[in-house]
Amino acid sequence: MRFDLDEKLAGILPEDSIIKNEDMSRHTTFRTGGPADYFIKISSDEELVSILNLLKEMKMKPKEDYYVLGNGSNLLVSDAGFRGVVLSLCGDFSKCSMTGDNHIKAGAAALNVAVANLARDNELTGFEFAHGIPGSIGGALVMNAGAYGGEMKQVVRSVYAFDENASLRKLDLDELEFGYRTSIFKKKNYVITGCDIELKKGKKNEIESLMNELKEKRISKQPLEYPSAGSTFKRPEGYFAGKLIEDAGLRGYSVGGAQVSEKHCGFVINKGNATSEDVYRLISDIQEKVFKSSGVKLSPEVILLGDFEK
Ligand code: FAD
Repeated sequence: MRFDLDEKLAGILPEDSIIKNEDMSRHTTFRTGGPADYFIKISSDEELVSILNLLKEMKMKPKEDYYVLGNGSNLLVSDAGFRGVVLSLCGDFSKCSMTGDNHIKAGAAALNVAVANLARDNELTGFEFAHGIPGSIGGALVMNAGAYGGEMKQVVRSVYAFDENASLRKLDLDELEFGYRTSIFKKKNYVITGCDIELKKGKKNEIESLMNELKEKRISKQPLEYPSAGSTFKRPEGYFAGKLIEDAGLRGYSVGGAQVSEKHCGFVINKGNATSEDVYRLISDIQEKVFKSSGVKLSPEVILLGDFEK
């Protein structure tokens, strides 16, 4: 079957878009994770449709046999890697442009920072919150990414995505089921290709200074000097994960090369030589110890890909 797949992929994509045994530590901000059997770069709607049709024809299942990667900033890939196909959008999907006075069309692979800069250059306010979130628009839509009072829900008007039958759908805001770090895309196996964003007219210098202010806040509070996936856990209602972890005496607690950041207890960091197993075991330890000390169950915001020992 793999031989079949090789041949069929080669009939759809250019040779340099198909990489075998790609080390996923190169594609995650944790800088950990083993090889994906196939890592394929898809640069247009046409290529994506052909790939989705092929995956369907080969009875390959989303999440089990293939996986859509964003910028890998919320992802922990197992050390054994992924026995399937990782789809990485690029090319046309990385573009973002103005589509009206205060509208932006952003491709799923465009980075938040690029969209935030485009908004600033066109004197549009409302996207400053996402400037420092190190992911793609696709990942931000799935997660309803947010920070400092802003979230995708406030600015997105519609999303374009292909379903498992390779049919293009347009979903409007009221269909997106945005909630705290969730959206309809957590349930549906769609491949998001882009979205329409609506912002408000603002002043360039004010937009710029808000971005700088938020950047300074991140630099002073977050351990950005180490690989991580940002906040490891979701905020439990009525609590702050970082405070619960600190109160459980876990500041600086480590498993192998993974550590609870000394600077911000809500972040699990890779001190340099962590494996994904270290990160996973540390996450489990934190959950257990925080539950013992506070009775609160922390649930990870970080998404797992591949096999992890329970
Ligand atoms: P990935 O991590 O690659 O993927 C996330 C999920 O989205 C996966 O399920 C993936 O399959 C899916 N996905 C990605 N693209 C597509 C697509 N095109 N179609 C379908 N599914 C897709 N998050 C916040 O919300 N707020 C913050 O302030 C914040 N700060 C952070 C700071 C640091 C230093 C780091 C490392 C992370 C931070 N994060 C934050 C977490 C992370 O950046 C966000 O969750 C981000 O939205 C993930 O986007 P991504 O492109 O990296 O997605």
